[in-house]
Amino acid sequence: MRKVYPKCNTHIDCFANKDGYCIALKLEGFSEEGCVFFKTKQDAEIARDKSFRRLVEIGREDLIEKYGGRKTHEHQKI
Ligand code: SF4
Repeated sequence: MRKVYPKCNTHIDCFANKDGYCIALKLEGFSEEGCVFFKTKQDAEIARDKSFRRLVEIGREDLIEKYGGRKTHEHQKI
């Protein structure tokens, strides 16, 4: 697990924001108002469900297993 995360103090309601740090991106500079990766936790969960269902539909459960299944960033211990 990575130990250094970019700061993000502008989108504390983002799914990837953990105590003012972005746990999704590796690079700094996305935290300005227009971060293209911003999603609320609810939006992220909806997108995750949609991806999960699509992978099951096309028989790619191997990818679900490979990338951690339904585990979310919130479930990961940082
Ligand atoms: S994805 Fe963008 S808005 Fe969300 S925490 Fe990371 S830098 Fe901030």
